[in-house]
Amino acid sequence: MIVGIDLGTTNSLIAVWEGVAPRLIPNGLGEVLTPSCVSLDKDDTVIVGRAARDRLQTHPERTAAVFKRHMGSDRMIRLGKRDFRAEELSALILRSLKEDAEAALGHPVTEAIITVPAYFSDAQRKATRAAGQLAGLRVERLLNEPTAAALTYGIHLRDQESKFLVFDLGGGTFDVSVLDLFEGVMEVRASAGDNFLGGEDFLDCLIEQFFEQNKLPARLKKDAKFMQRLTAQCEIAKRRLSDSPQASIRLSHDKAEYAMDLDEPALERYCAPLLARLRDPVEQALRDANLAAAELDSIVLAGGATRMPVVRRMVARMFGRTPASDINPDEVVALGAAVQAGLKMKDAALDEIMMTDVSPYSLGIEVSKQLADGSYSRGHFDSIIERNSAIPVSRVKCYFPLGEQQSYIDLAIFQGEARMANDNISLGVLRIPLPGGPQHQRGVDVRFTYDINGLLQVEATILKTQETHALLIEGNAGVLSDTDIAARFEQLSDLKIHPRDRLEYRTLLARGERLYQELRGREREWLGQQVLLFERLLDSQDMRLIQKNRSAFEEMLNEVERQDFLNPATESIQ
Ligand code: AMP
Repeated sequence: MIVGIDLGTTNSLIAVWEGVAPRLIPNGLGEVLTPSCVSLDKDDTVIVGRAARDRLQTHPERTAAVFKRHMGSDRMIRLGKRDFRAEELSALILRSLKEDAEAALGHPVTEAIITVPAYFSDAQRKATRAAGQLAGLRVERLLNEPTAAALTYGIHLRDQESKFLVFDLGGGTFDVSVLDLFEGVMEVRASAGDNFLGGEDFLDCLIEQFFEQNKLPARLKKDAKFMQRLTAQCEIAKRRLSDSPQASIRLSHDKAEYAMDLDEPALERYCAPLLARLRDPVEQALRDANLAAAELDSIVLAGGATRMPVVRRMVARMFGRTPASDINPDEVVALGAAVQAGLKMKDAALDEIMMTDVSPYSLGIEVSKQLADGSYSRGHFDSIIERNSAIPVSRVKCYFPLGEQQSYIDLAIFQGEARMANDNISLGVLRIPLPGGPQHQRGVDVRFTYDINGLLQVEATILKTQETHALLIEGNAGVLSDTDIAARFEQLSDLKIHPRDRLEYRTLLARGERLYQELRGREREWLGQQVLLFERLLDSQDMRLIQKNRSAFEEMLNEVERQDFLNPATESIQ
């Protein structure tokens, strides 16, 4: 059985193909969205999901979120006394989802299809695959998120012909894909996007506004607890604006009260630069697909941030019509990953469906160009695989060294669209030894092969000797080697994971601790007592008593959260 996983910046989901349709699998709390947050408890036990998200506020130094943004980099994220790479934290999320699926299906889960933003680079994709390996999963395929969303949509429309655009604005990334569905073949015609644009940027924008309007000193940004509380309040307000006209943020700090009132027009004003950035990728994808907006049959929304009315209005303005939103934008990607799992398992119900995808960016190397006066200009980007080529794709180009004395060629590999190599993303450098002899015999054929997972392989053949080097891209600190992965797998195996059957209680406790921090005075004192009692009860491990008191404790927390004195936007984050 292969599972489909949407490993999101904010939330992650797991789904399976069940004969006729994909199905989402709930976590230990009965919820299908597992917040992509990891925390270490006081005894270094790993807590994943909702409880970890509450601990962002109460224990920011032991908790991490939004680490998908650091995939493919060598940045370390400190939790307590341990340092983690983003792929290790992602692996802990995957491990938790895997356990949820195993509990629901009643058998081990070892294979998965994991979705990635279409715009994820080679290093980010490799990091995602490594995260799967670290979680004990064989990654059958990395699937582009908008392609996954399109698969879910395409299954609904399987008997129709349709051209549609998937507009996928998640927590951290923005992807656009244009698709063509005909006779069961779903063809991605073009993809474009922005790896650093998502709902989290709208959140940052609100945080900045709060600082500005309340004239808060910049040094407060270093106060992790204050920032976590402000972030949580801004997130609630941002979501509240998705279904009511107004929201406000109130926060006390050092005996002072700070506030900001928000409505839709204000949000639109503050976030105008972000909204403007949505336009370019849409235009580029349409241009590359050779389609006009009017030729599209529909616009499909994916990603939680498309719930924002300012975003929907922007989409409606761009296309002159309302986007389709009949499939839940939070779930559409995970469901599509499960459809792909069904395809991979050759499920009979999906017999007539075929899917083709593209490379969303150009891939090439740095070259020098000869000018009319015979001089050379260095540092240019020369693409070998052009963006939006159907994948898998393999292309070859021949390159010659500049000088006769040169005993090797350094192939500097880049991805991107910029004219100058250094303005693109570096994927690594490869050194190829050159034979002696006349210049025209010293050429090297460079073959780029880009597979369906979006992973690149480079092969260089020296013309004179026909010697071929199958080359691995190295020298990229963001990519773990197989040996590193094996070592880190061992280290992660040492970590204790919070037992699944107790997760519900641990989550309640984390919520109690968060609410305690938000209260003041007598209410705080009182809640502190209740939390302490519940904590003692959990320590006693007396399951009968824990069960008996659980509902009362939860109801009390609900009651506290409903009180307006906590915050004016009283809903909790879903
Ligand atoms: P995803 O990565 O698809 O899970 O998207 C998560 C992003 O969607 C986060 O930035 C959330 O803040 C945002 N989001 C989720 N629900 C809402 C909502 N109701 N209103 C506004 N933004 C939302």
